[in-house]
Amino acid sequence: MKETNFLHKLYQNICKDTGDQNESAKLIVVIRFLILSMIVYSLISSGLCLAAPHIGGMIFCQISAVLFLAIFVLSYHNRTFVSFCILNAYILVWIMFNIIMFGWNIGVQHFIIVLLVACFFAKYKHGMIKAFYALALCILRICLFLYCQNNVPQISLRTDLNNLFQVINTIAIFWSISLIAYIFSTDTQTLECKLVEYNEQLKKQANVDPLTGLYNRRSTLEYLEKLLKAPEHEISICLCDIDFFKRVNDTYGHDVGDIVLKKISETFRKELPAGTFISRWGGEEFLLIFPISNGDEAHIFLETLRQKVKAIDFDGGSENFSVSLTFGLVEYDFHSDLTTILKQADEKLYLGKESGRDRIIF
Ligand code: GH3
Ligand code: MG
Ligand code: MG
Repeated sequence: MKETNFLHKLYQNICKDTGDQNESAKLIVVIRFLILSMIVYSLISSGLCLAAPHIGGMIFCQISAVLFLAIFVLSYHNRTFVSFCILNAYILVWIMFNIIMFGWNIGVQHFIIVLLVACFFAKYKHGMIKAFYALALCILRICLFLYCQNNVPQISLRTDLNNLFQVINTIAIFWSISLIAYIFSTDTQTLECKLVEYNEQLKKQANVDPLTGLYNRRSTLEYLEKLLKAPEHEISICLCDIDFFKRVNDTYGHDVGDIVLKKISETFRKELPAGTFISRWGGEEFLLIFPISNGDEAHIFLETLRQKVKAIDFDGGSENFSVSLTFGLVEYDFHSDLTTILKQADEKLYLGKESGRDRIIF
């Protein structure tokens, strides 16, 4: 329990922002994690040297650990950029020192790659400086290699210790690069997820009527155009309109009118067969598309729907009331164009209104 508390506090401290609004909060977290990793690395190396035993190597590793610790403390007092520069400079000196002392074979030169990755992930917009730094790192690595070709290490480690350092360095380098890539890539991934979500939302907003949640006219036209282009079944289309809806608004208020629209839309969704494309064509008019039903089949669905809607008891405040719908139904003849079909449905709806409302004209 105590341990988890300590780790939690340590984690919170590592993530503590420098408070500079112009700097990325991620970079300082990366810097601190890297420094802590280097401290752990130095302590493990120091332990290995002690076991070897190799007192010179041990002292060197312990001094490294203390200096990394000092940079860690400084990261709470400096700007992130300064901490980043100090850490880079120190690791560079540390790499050179290690190579001069222990030679090329312990593999410490690969830490240059860690610096390269960190430099490019750091969100500073100095492209040219980054490119020069990368070039400088590349040259440094070549120089160190050439140096090692011509000079023997100051401290000659036993082969087994040498190999052990090679393994530890490989692990430390892979860990550091993974850490940098992980911390910085979570930003991008979160952003990407947010964008996908936002796009979905926008798409939905563009296709759906906000009051009823039904498809709007735009998406209905899109759907119909596609459907009529390659019809595989009989298709029925019905334009339907609430009767005397203006009266509902005038008598009970616009809010009650909205409730009626929502409730009727809900009834459409509930009563019509799955696969029916239900849309708010405009105002109190709806377009219902039955993509696999002929007119007779659609007529049966609509008759049930007509009765269900009529049976709804709306609360108008002072009194309850009900509404009725009039339907203009057409069956697609497999050759007319979209405008013609819609015109036919509209004419039938008009006929229904003229002949007394609350009916289906087919
Ligand atoms: P008819 O039986 O001939 O269709 O008569 P009607 O009163 O339903 O038709 P009219 O076209 O005269 O009126 C339609 C009304 O629908 C007028 C308008 O205020 C109302 N309306 C349109 N959209 C909305 C809406 O989103 N909310 C509410 N509450 N009313 C709406
Ligand atoms: Mg109406
Ligand atoms: Mg109308």
